[in-house]
Amino acid sequence: MQTTDFKLDAPLTSLSGVGPALAEKLERLDLYRVEDLLFLLPLRYEDRSRLLRLGELRPGARAMVCGEVLLAETVYRRRRSLLVRIGDGTGQLTLRFFYFSRQQQAQFQPGVRVSCYGEARPGPLGLEMVHPEYRLLKPGQDPVTVDALTPVYSVTEGVQQGRLRNLVGQALTRMRASPPEELLPDDILASLDMPPLAEALEYLHQPPVDAELGLLAAGTHPCQQRLAFEELLAHYLSLRQLRLSASRVPAPPLGGGDEVVRDFIERLPYRLTAAQQRVASEVLSDMSRPHPMMRLIQGDVGSGKTVVAAIACLKAMACGSQAAVMAPTELLAEQHWQNFNSWFAQRDYGLAWLSGSQRAKERNESLQRIASGAARLIVGTHALFQEGVSFSKLALIVIDEQHRFGVHQRMALREKGASGAGQPHQLVMTATPIPRTLAMAAYADLDTSIIDELPPGRQPVQTVVLPDSRRDEVIERVRRACASGQQAYWVCPLIEESEVLDYEAAEARHEILTQALPGLRIGLVHGRMKAAAKDGVMRSFKDGDVDVLVATTVIEVGVDVPNASLMIIENAERMGLAQLHQLRGRVGRGARQSHCVLLYRQPLGELARNRLGVMRESNDGFLIAQRDLELRGPGELLGTRQTGLPQYRIADLLRDAALMPKVQRVAESLQGSLRETSARIVRRWLGDAGRYGKV
Ligand code: ADP
Ligand code: MG
Repeated sequence: MQTTDFKLDAPLTSLSGVGPALAEKLERLDLYRVEDLLFLLPLRYEDRSRLLRLGELRPGARAMVCGEVLLAETVYRRRRSLLVRIGDGTGQLTLRFFYFSRQQQAQFQPGVRVSCYGEARPGPLGLEMVHPEYRLLKPGQDPVTVDALTPVYSVTEGVQQGRLRNLVGQALTRMRASPPEELLPDDILASLDMPPLAEALEYLHQPPVDAELGLLAAGTHPCQQRLAFEELLAHYLSLRQLRLSASRVPAPPLGGGDEVVRDFIERLPYRLTAAQQRVASEVLSDMSRPHPMMRLIQGDVGSGKTVVAAIACLKAMACGSQAAVMAPTELLAEQHWQNFNSWFAQRDYGLAWLSGSQRAKERNESLQRIASGAARLIVGTHALFQEGVSFSKLALIVIDEQHRFGVHQRMALREKGASGAGQPHQLVMTATPIPRTLAMAAYADLDTSIIDELPPGRQPVQTVVLPDSRRDEVIERVRRACASGQQAYWVCPLIEESEVLDYEAAEARHEILTQALPGLRIGLVHGRMKAAAKDGVMRSFKDGDVDVLVATTVIEVGVDVPNASLMIIENAERMGLAQLHQLRGRVGRGARQSHCVLLYRQPLGELARNRLGVMRESNDGFLIAQRDLELRGPGELLGTRQTGLPQYRIADLLRDAALMPKVQRVAESLQGSLRETSARIVRRWLGDAGRYGKV
C-alpha cells in the first residue's frame, strides 16, 4: 500500500473492508473520501454505558438491559415470531424477533444471560423490545463494555450501522495520526469561542458518557456549532464570490421599452399594489445597467409576483431581446404559459413552450424558433437549459420558486444564455418569506426585493387548532365541504428518517379516508412518486376530478386550485411554522372563505401551543417566519427540509441562524486578507460542484 493511502483524502477503498461494491453504496451517502466519513455526523446517540434494571424500564425508553433467559418459543399469531422472555429478579421483558435463524433460536437456552439494547414498548405480554441488538454473555461477563456514547448514523441500503461505525472508527484513527487542516485562523477561533476542528470531530463521533445529550440532540453543542459555522462560512464565501464575478461581466444593454411597459401596466385589469410598483421599478432599473441583474423577489403566496415577472419580460422583449421563464414542474410552467399567453398573445412577440414531456416534433419546432429568435418569450421547465437549446439573444432569465433549483443550476442557465453581448439578467422569485439573517445566508449572491403587501380584498384563511382525538369530526367536515362542491387537502406528516414510512403513513391515511368517505374521490400524492405521476394526480385535483387530495408535505408549491377551500394538516405540532404557512397557502385562492384545521397529538407542550397559536392568529408569512425562528424547539420534525432553504450537510439554517452575523464578519475578514484560506474552506465543503446547492 502506498503511504498516501493513509491520508484523509484517500479514497474509501483504502479502508480495510471496503471494496468497490461497498464504495459504490457509500457514494449514495455522499461519501467518497476517508475525510467525508468524519463529516458524516451521527443522527443521534445511544447510551449503552449504563445498565437499567428491568424493573426500572418504562415504555418508550431506549436502554441497555441484561437478564437471564426464562423461556424462548416460536409463536404463530399473524406473523411467525420468536419470543424470548428474560428476567433479572426486578422485572421481566420479552424480546420479539420476526426474522431469525434456527441457529439464533437455539442460542436462547433457559439460563443463558443476554444483554440487549433497544426501545421498550408495551406489548401483549408486558414490555417488549422488537429486534433489539443483543449479545450472549459468558458466565461472569460484564454486560457493559463501552465508555462512550454510541453514535447512530443515517444508514443506506446495504450499509449497516455496525459497518458505518467501524468505518468512521478507522477514519478517526487516521485523523489522530494526521488531523485535517485547521482552516480557521487562531485569532478567529478564539474570538468565536469554538473548539478546533479535529477536537470537534472526535467529540461528535465519540462523545464521553457525561456529554450533554440535550445539546447534542438539539444540534447546539459547541462542537456541532463549530462545524456548522465552517460549513455556513464556506457557502457564504462561495456565494459572495459568485456575486463579485457577476459584477464584472457585461450584460446585454436594455435601453428603452419604457413606453411599452407603461402601456401594459395601464391595461391590466387591476392596479398594481404599491409594493408591486416599487419592486417592478427596482427590477427595471437593474435591467438598464450594463452588468447582469441578480435579484430575488420575495413575496408571500398570492402577493402577485407573476405580473412583476411579466413586466421584466416585456422590457426585454421590447428591447428586441429574448426572455425565458422557468418553473420547477410542468404544472407550474403551464400555469405561467397560460398567463403569459393571455398577456402577450396579441402582441407581435413569438412565444415558445419547452418541456421534458413534449413530443419531438413540437420540441424541435420550439428549439428552432428559440435559436432563430422568432420566439421572444420562452416558458418551460428544466428543459430550458438542457443540451440542444440555444438562444439567439437571451437577455433575461426568470426563475420561479427558486428553491427547487440549486445555485449551480442557476449558474448553468446563466452560462447557457451568455452571448457576445454578455450574461443575461436573472430574476428569481420565491414564496418563502424568510427573515433577513436567513436570506443573508441563502441568497448571498442576490439582491433582494420584497413584495410585502397582498392585493386588496383577499380573505385570510381561518385557522383552527384541534387535538387529533377529534379527527372524526374533521372527517365529517371534509365530507360536508365536498358535498357542497368544494375540495380539500389532507396533509400527512413526514416521518423522521424514512421516506418509506412517510409513504406508508400517507397510504394508510388514504385508505382510512377512502373508507370513511364513501362516494368521494380521494387522491394520493407522495414523495416517492415519479414527477409525471405526481403531476398527473395534481392535475386531476386541479380539474376537479379528485375531491380530497391526501398528500405528504410534497404538495407542489405554487399550484393554484382555487376551488380547494379546506386544508387539514396532521401532526401540525411537529412541523415548522414556515412550512405550515406554505401548506396553508394552498387554500384561500378562490372567492370562498377558506379554512385550515391544524391537528395535533396530545399532550401539547407549552412551546408547541404557542407556535400553533401563531398560525391561528396570523396570515403574514414574514411575521410567521420570524416567530418560527424565535420559537423553534428541539426535535423539530423537518428542519429546513421543506422550507425552501438550502440544505447543508451539518448546518441547519433555521437552527443556526444566530451564527450568520458572525459568518458574515469572518467572511469579510478572510476575503480581505486571506484569499487562499477562503478558497480552501470553500473547497473543503463544496469540493465537487455536484454537491453545490443540492436541494
Ligand atoms: P404569487 O406571488 O403567489 O405567484 P400570483 O402572481 O400568482 O401570486 O398572483 C396571485 C393572484 O393575484 C393572481 O390571480 C393575480 O391575477 C392576482 N393579482 C396580482 N396582482 C394583483 C393586483 N395588484 N390586484 C389584484 N389582483 C392581483
Ligand atoms: Mg407564483
